[in-house]
Amino acid sequence: MEKLTSCPVCLGEKFKEVLSCTDYTTTKEEFVICQCSDCSFRFTNPRPDINESGKYYQSEDYISHTDSKKGLLNKLYQIARDYMIATKYKSTVKKYNAKSLVDYGCGTGDFLKYCIDKGHSAIGLEIDDSARKIALNKGCKEVYEPSHLSNISSDSADIITLWHVLEHIHDLHPTVKHFNRILNANGTLVIAVPNHESHDAKYYGKYWAAYDVPRHLYHFNVASMTRLMSDEGFKLIETRTMRLDPFYIALLSNKYQSGGMNPIKAIYIGLVSNLKTLFNIRNSSSIIYIFKKQ
Ligand SMILES: [Zn+2]
Repeated sequence: MEKLTSCPVCLGEKFKEVLSCTDYTTTKEEFVICQCSDCSFRFTNPRPDINESGKYYQSEDYISHTDSKKGLLNKLYQIARDYMIATKYKSTVKKYNAKSLVDYGCGTGDFLKYCIDKGHSAIGLEIDDSARKIALNKGCKEVYEPSHLSNISSDSADIITLWHVLEHIHDLHPTVKHFNRILNANGTLVIAVPNHESHDAKYYGKYWAAYDVPRHLYHFNVASMTRLMSDEGFKLIETRTMRLDPFYIALLSNKYQSGGMNPIKAIYIGLVSNLKTLFNIRNSSSIIYIFKKQ
């Protein structure tokens, strides 16, 4: 374990413990979440260091990287994913007229392949060996380990996308610096992460599934995300919600809280979360942040 003595976003040294959460998917260990007094960023602390984090991803329940079709939740996840891929593409790559793409944390390559099929040049970076192989087998030709980031030429990409990935990355500032270097002057950076100020996060508290400790090292809100990116030379130009996320998160949170998924309750919580988001993006379960270089 490594214990952080300063905030990973603003480097401030004042923070307090706000929650203790359980790792429900693998080890059942408890992890403390701290909140920075300066920038309101939340981070898992202590956290697994980069060499021991692998064991926390060893779970059949951890479906983000697999194409398993077993079980109701996985089936729902697959249907939702196909819908989300098309939505993600239209609202980012297409909307911002991007030709060349880097998808950081491409998983099994579904979004990457979708973009390639639409005629884009696309590089995928993925830490998981088996996910990388699946992406290559799907026909994504350029899929590398994340360390390849430093080999990508400066000013070479129109858009960089991270779909629920930034919260997993140990080297936060150095990685974002690379994004700035790789993007061309009019480039677009797209970052989707859970939002700990959302309606569903407040409702479920320590049972909120998107805390997902210790895989999620970081827990962003609008203020801390904006702070991190402005320190690295990006300005926020748009925020968007992900309408299916609160339903999925509520199903999992119900399971953690009471042992059952309780779909009726999950639908209700998801609907309220979406309704509140219509009035303020800060209620959104997950937020897609879209940045341009300053
Ligand atoms: Zn801070």
